[in-house]
Amino acid sequence: MPFKNTIPFDNSYAVQMEGFYVPWEGAKAPSPSIIQFNDELAKELDLSPDDLNSEQGAAFFAGNEMPVGANPLAQVYAGHQFGGFSQQLGDGRALLIGEVIDKNNNRRDIQLKGSGRTPFSRGGDGKAVVGPVLREYLIGEAMHALGVPTTRALAAVTTGEQIAREGLEPGAILTRVASSHLRVGTFQFFAARGDTEKLKKLADYSINRHYKYIADHENKYLELLKAVMKSQAKLISKWMSVGFVHGVMNTDNMTISGETIDYGPCAFMDDYNAKAVFSSIDEQGRYAYGNQPNIAQWNLARFAETLITLIDPDDSDNAIKLATDELNQFPKIYQQFWLDEMKAKLGLTNLKVTDTDLINSLYDIIAGEGVDYTKLFRALAEAARDDKESLLSLFNDNSAIESWLDKWFKRLAENGRSKQETANSMDTVNPIYIPRNHKVEQALQEASKQENYEPFKKLLAVLINPYEKRAGMEEYEEPASKDDGPYVTFCGT
Ligand code: AMP
Ligand code: MG
Repeated sequence: MPFKNTIPFDNSYAVQMEGFYVPWEGAKAPSPSIIQFNDELAKELDLSPDDLNSEQGAAFFAGNEMPVGANPLAQVYAGHQFGGFSQQLGDGRALLIGEVIDKNNNRRDIQLKGSGRTPFSRGGDGKAVVGPVLREYLIGEAMHALGVPTTRALAAVTTGEQIAREGLEPGAILTRVASSHLRVGTFQFFAARGDTEKLKKLADYSINRHYKYIADHENKYLELLKAVMKSQAKLISKWMSVGFVHGVMNTDNMTISGETIDYGPCAFMDDYNAKAVFSSIDEQGRYAYGNQPNIAQWNLARFAETLITLIDPDDSDNAIKLATDELNQFPKIYQQFWLDEMKAKLGLTNLKVTDTDLINSLYDIIAGEGVDYTKLFRALAEAARDDKESLLSLFNDNSAIESWLDKWFKRLAENGRSKQETANSMDTVNPIYIPRNHKVEQALQEASKQENYEPFKKLLAVLINPYEKRAGMEEYEEPASKDDGPYVTFCGT
């Protein structure tokens, strides 16, 4: 039966951006099968779950058949990876197959990740395997449920192939949805080649797609820098608020839209630790939890460099000054977003100047105490309900947190609402369930070694509803046993 075209594509990148990609096709998968399909996201994209969660859908998500209207292509980009510049990266194992306009009138990319070699694969095989694909599915959807801007997962399929990794692993493909796949590295690709014309085209396309409101601005390219800075500052503040460590904040993994992209070696921390690093290859701690705002600023400086010729084509000194002045604002902009997150986490209805000290002193108290970062905020809400037991159980020494509680309660008294109301509001922003590393690992092991997808599906169901306590799900609240030793992630390819 021919594949029924249920996807009304509206492809702007393929049509408008020739020279920014190569048209390409996926490798053929021997026997595609859907592991997981995201009904809710399909509906948001105005696509039919019934049509797509099917054998035909599997053929499509495996790249075996393209619906009419798809323009499969591999995008070019460059990027700074761990500080070193690679001037030729690009989709080495992904294909943008097209764009759709979703129910909210937003343009969304649909991309297959793991769909075979492309001209940008370098030494790689262009493939992906079940573990990393399901990891991206789980963590991306968890992030979305936590209110963190992110690429989404529409489907995960197995291909029926065995792929060589450490040993043989089952092949898989993720269908990723993003508000675009434009990266800082996309700009760097053309800047590195001195191609001002293409840079201008890319900047105009980006503005039109993500920041239309600056299109008529006198210096729209400086405004683009400011807009991306703001989106990224907001994004990183949300990562920090939930204890997320991205792990590979290379400039090719930093979007222009401000969505989180690439869930390779990422992890949520259990115990609070500003130096938390999980990735096996991040030996220097470049991408440690507490370093993420600094790295964002560093990446944005690389973005700014690509815009210099556009910001002032006649006077680069002036352009550099304008861009530098903006970049210097980053810590302030970030701090404001972060305070907004913390305000909600601690149940404050407004922010006072002294709140910064109150918040920072909480972090000082938990540093080095081995306090579970996620449990802390739910336990604080319990304490506001006059039950301090779970909070105190997180600490070895109670004196510092007891005196902090006194200060916080005094502050809450100025809120103009009861402590009960405060606690209820805190519970709407502080999750009970995050992707606990050992739970993620266990689900992925079962999936890739035993073809048992039940632990994955159960964990996913828990994570997409992170704030509401459910009976029988207690094991998902707990961090790994300390006997397990430090958690290490590997760049999933
Ligand atoms: P990532 O670490 O996923 O951000 O990827 C960095 C670069 O390596 C991108 O250009 C990817 O397309 C490429 N890449 C990663 N894994 C593979 C693979 N298995 N085959 C080909 N290219 C890959
Ligand atoms: Mg990447």
